[in-house]
Amino acid sequence: MSSDTLPKSLPIHPKATKYLHDITVNDYTQYLQQCQREVSATLTQIIETTLFIHGDLPLDLIEELVQTNKDLQAQYEQASVSCRILETAKNSYKQDSNQCQPVQSLSDWQKHVNGGIDPNMHMPKSLQTHYEESAETIKNSTPPANLLDAKSKTSNLLKILPQIWNDPTAVIRDEKPSDDDDDIKIEGGTIDLECPITCKQFVTPMISKKCGHTFDKEGITSYLGGPHSRATKDCPQAGCSKSVSMNDFVEDNLMKLRCKIAVCIKQRQRADLDAESIDII
Ligand SMILES: [Zn+2]
Repeated sequence: MSSDTLPKSLPIHPKATKYLHDITVNDYTQYLQQCQREVSATLTQIIETTLFIHGDLPLDLIEELVQTNKDLQAQYEQASVSCRILETAKNSYKQDSNQCQPVQSLSDWQKHVNGGIDPNMHMPKSLQTHYEESAETIKNSTPPANLLDAKSKTSNLLKILPQIWNDPTAVIRDEKPSDDDDDIKIEGGTIDLECPITCKQFVTPMISKKCGHTFDKEGITSYLGGPHSRATKDCPQAGCSKSVSMNDFVEDNLMKLRCKIAVCIKQRQRADLDAESIDII
């Protein structure tokens, strides 16, 4: 029996490159996205039901959703980190292999046995070692902002919902998500729930992607010359210098929710007043 020690690793065989390419991390992205959509749908149900019964926001349920959403996001980030590690490891293994003499026959293999005949010969590291090294590098690098919830609507809404539930006109400092700042701060002042063009409460609020100003669909459509108009005009918000066109506007779901909550609060106050007057009679 030979006392030869087999090489711990070999440069990749040119014909095996294809198989290396085929090694991938299982992609659970779509399942995570599906779960995220369900969180979002549950949130909508909670909001609609609570508004319908004029109830208080079920904060424990909201908290559970916040946690679930965070867990999903963490898993999504973990999956994307694993993908990056594997891709980096595969590339560095390929580069490492390119610096070696190709192993195509048994005699080439023999050169690597016992740690190589020539002590100066380049010995590649194994794919596993490359993987471990890549993992170390990537874990220490700053991850790119990877959001499961593409526009982060759900996590954003979950954060600010308890605030606008009590005061639908509350101005929230940052309605966009930021990882290192979980606290939503309320600024002074109030948000107008009336369209500055129609001077009526929003029916279908539309927000400008360019400047974040919101107008009612009816108002902004007539201002810009009709739903199919390509005209570009100055944003009708006083003091805003951006040029906007119909294409720049999307539905402002947050404003819509603010208005729904405001209506609900008004109805509740009216019902309370009615109850009081009945008591007096
Ligand atoms: Zn504007």
